[in-house]
Amino acid sequence: MSLETLHSAQQAAVQAMDIDPAELRELQTVKTYSFMLKTTTGLEVPAYRIHTGAIEGAGGKGGIRFDGKADRERAVSLGSELSAEMFAKNALWGVRRNGAKGIICADPRLPESEMTHLTKQYAQQMHDAGLGDYRRDSPAGDIGSNGLADTYALEMRRLGEPYWQASITGKSVELGGSPARPAATARGAYAVERSHRRMTQDDSLAYDVATQGWGNVGGWRTYFASQDHDSNVTTISDQYGALYSDGVPMDIREEYIHELADNRDFKGDKMAELSTRLKRDQGLEVEYVTHAKDPYVVFKRSGDLFVPAALADSINEKTAPMLVENNVRVVEEAANGPTKKKAHDYLVEHGVWVLPDVLVNGGGVNASMDELYDNVAAVDHNLPPSSKETLERSIVNGATSAHERTMKMAEKLGTKDLRVAAVAVSLAQLGVSAGLSMDPSFHDFAIHDAA
Ligand code: NAD
Repeated sequence: MSLETLHSAQQAAVQAMDIDPAELRELQTVKTYSFMLKTTTGLEVPAYRIHTGAIEGAGGKGGIRFDGKADRERAVSLGSELSAEMFAKNALWGVRRNGAKGIICADPRLPESEMTHLTKQYAQQMHDAGLGDYRRDSPAGDIGSNGLADTYALEMRRLGEPYWQASITGKSVELGGSPARPAATARGAYAVERSHRRMTQDDSLAYDVATQGWGNVGGWRTYFASQDHDSNVTTISDQYGALYSDGVPMDIREEYIHELADNRDFKGDKMAELSTRLKRDQGLEVEYVTHAKDPYVVFKRSGDLFVPAALADSINEKTAPMLVENNVRVVEEAANGPTKKKAHDYLVEHGVWVLPDVLVNGGGVNASMDELYDNVAAVDHNLPPSSKETLERSIVNGATSAHERTMKMAEKLGTKDLRVAAVAVSLAQLGVSAGLSMDPSFHDFAIHDAA
């Protein structure tokens, strides 16, 4: 994953804001909790929880992922990088939490019973380390662990944690999860893009939209674009291949998302099935090209807006020029780390707006924090949960505010590089939340009552 892209933006932001890198380094602490889990057959599985932050007394926030390729060294280094990225995302979205990441060194394709067994032990060890209290930590599902939040929460209940529901987010609604969570990341991404079009006054024309990835994020993102008169979904790709419609908008209906895109139980080729449904329901003929035939169709048919919502590093030296040749105007990074450093610079130099991942895909963090507040308020004040509409509005407001502050920062720094501007806003937040020294004029970019 292109953490080099983020690091380089951080360096540029630190320089542009005249921040002392040594002070930032000293302020930013990393704490690693090491656990040892066992499979049902007695194999040892190392696991970690890593916190990166600078806000005294603030708990951690970030996912737990299963990683079959990780040994101890890779797990600690990956976990540290990802928790640092979470820290930047939290700060930008006004979430007063340090970054955190959990890594369990086991293959996410293990049988469900084994995953449950490991998750319960992970919860036990988090509890033993004092991290079962939401004030100290509150993880969420991530790669391989989505769907295991309920197991984790119920284990915390068994262990007697008084705020067991708030000990993890991404739970089912029955256990206090947010009904806005499934579409949260895509909703935030969509709100960032709408804000961007408003602020760049580029909302006069309907954008042709291409998404790479048609899972949870890519699926809901195409749904939102389809609802919007200013966007035409014309290209979609996933792991099998790409569909394109030669400019005719595809109507991506909600049922397609529930039954295909955001349905982990669907086995088979989603693109082939979507193509069949578009013909059956809408009479729309689309081209379907498998990756075996041409893996670059989604870049060659990128439209005005390209949304990477699948893989890290997919925009690289080979694919970035394809986007530019196709006159892409905006790249909206819904995936984590989809753009390599050189490709990022190439796009910015060629006048493409790159909306960076820390800004675009924080809707899930926003939804997670709302879930946590609701869980705590239920215990402390016996309050009912927020309505779905309130939770959805909160994501849109959080996304719009983060984007507007990023654009204003870009203007102040005199840059079109929104990754640098977004990181600068995160640093401005640290000026307010953690006392990092900087010109006080940067404090205007922070949220002063960050939650
Ligand atoms: P997902 O597993 O639901 O979907 C991933 C999609 O990528 C699938 O449709 C898969 O077919 C597709 N894909 C795999 N290889 C491909 C290829 N070669 N070409 C095109 N598509 C390919 O995952 P998701 O939850 O939608 O996450 C997508 C990205 O967004 C990841 O980078 C993830 O880290 C990031 N993200 C997700 C969330 C969230 O809330 N789900 C939050 C923040 C960031």
